[in-house]
Amino acid sequence: MASPSLKLPVIQNWSCHNCGGCCREHLIEITEDEKRRIEKQGWTQKDGIPMGRPVIRKIGPGRYRLAHKDDNSCVFLDDRGLCRIHAKFGEGQKPLACQVYPYAFHPRGDRITTSLRFSCPSVVQNAGTNLEEQRPELEELCSHVIAGRRTETEPPAVHGSELLSWADVNQFLEALDTCIQDNSVNFAVRLLRILEWMNLVEQSKFATIQGTRLTDYLQLLLDASCQAQPDDDLPVLRPSRIARILFRQLAAQLARHDTDQLARGGLRTRLRLLCTALRFSSALGYVPDLAEPTSVVTAFGELPQHPATFEQLEVRHEGRQPAIDGLFERYFRVKIQGVHFCGVAGYGLTIVDGFRSLALMYPVTMWLARWRAARRGNKNIQLVDAEAALATVDHNFNYSPALGTRSAKNRIRQLAKMNQITALCGWYSL
Ligand code: SF4
Repeated sequence: MASPSLKLPVIQNWSCHNCGGCCREHLIEITEDEKRRIEKQGWTQKDGIPMGRPVIRKIGPGRYRLAHKDDNSCVFLDDRGLCRIHAKFGEGQKPLACQVYPYAFHPRGDRITTSLRFSCPSVVQNAGTNLEEQRPELEELCSHVIAGRRTETEPPAVHGSELLSWADVNQFLEALDTCIQDNSVNFAVRLLRILEWMNLVEQSKFATIQGTRLTDYLQLLLDASCQAQPDDDLPVLRPSRIARILFRQLAAQLARHDTDQLARGGLRTRLRLLCTALRFSSALGYVPDLAEPTSVVTAFGELPQHPATFEQLEVRHEGRQPAIDGLFERYFRVKIQGVHFCGVAGYGLTIVDGFRSLALMYPVTMWLARWRAARRGNKNIQLVDAEAALATVDHNFNYSPALGTRSAKNRIRQLAKMNQITALCGWYSL
């Protein structure tokens, strides 16, 4: 059988800038084969591995990951920020997860599609070579990822148990992609329109609406949602108290930075995490110190010790910045084109719930950007605040087990039911 063709996001550049951030931030799980391969490589203190430090750690029955050093970096990362396995045996001998990052390959009907993880500062900053120019290398990489795996995956449900073929799901994805790049209105308005569109989709039954009928139907719903929010004049409705509590709980989970030390932490660490969670729910006083990932600190600089209160983060900012809208447009397009918000790459969510969870990334990122701006003593958010905030939260989006739990999924549904996702997107848009 011919291998499926690879679809690349049309608007994204990337090259590795050797910041070594991924080797500090990510806990790399390895397969049994990779474990055996690394053990055979015979690593010793002479290679620079700290004395008495195992290179692999068992994390459960049949599950292993690379060990980390006391500074939280991978045991194979050397003082120059380079990988020892890569230097000694070549790139192909590293665990596949290390070779693939920051890419993510997902099935999309008769093709494989490519998304990127914005936790990499070079992805957020769109720094490097256009992906189309890297096609041969990416096809090679993708072939290793999908080797021997099933590429024919069921498409995500639209909502509930409403199932369509991949051809029709692709119509949804293309309509979403078109709508999110409509720069005749600002980004928040585009989101509000799509959220309204999702509400209408959720009320629809698709058994007899397929193929060209679906094309017309989706356009009809889109027109109706555009009429509901015709221009940039956003309604400024403060989200309800309950919505803000649920929102801050989500923000706390997305902004969390799990390190090797935290993963191994005992009762004291768990108590500290619980206290932080309670402070996020109550929103009294100062925002607890949010430890930023090393890659974010390296790329965007250290924040001054200027505490910010929860109250400060509720003050709306001035002056919409097209560059920030451009950042979110690129982020959403990459996630939509790469089907990186629902189905197999999005906690099994339906298209409607998955898009709602993706939409919430906008207010959470803007909230965190407000926190960064306040820490720097600025009244308004700069592009760098939004970029650093997005790199922090996308580390967890669709990867943190806590966000895939039933309670996390219920939180999205509850916010949607109260019509508060729209309010949150509008409120934190400036
Ligand atoms: S094995 Fe190499 S590439 Fe992978 S996390 Fe460790 S240092 Fe980085």
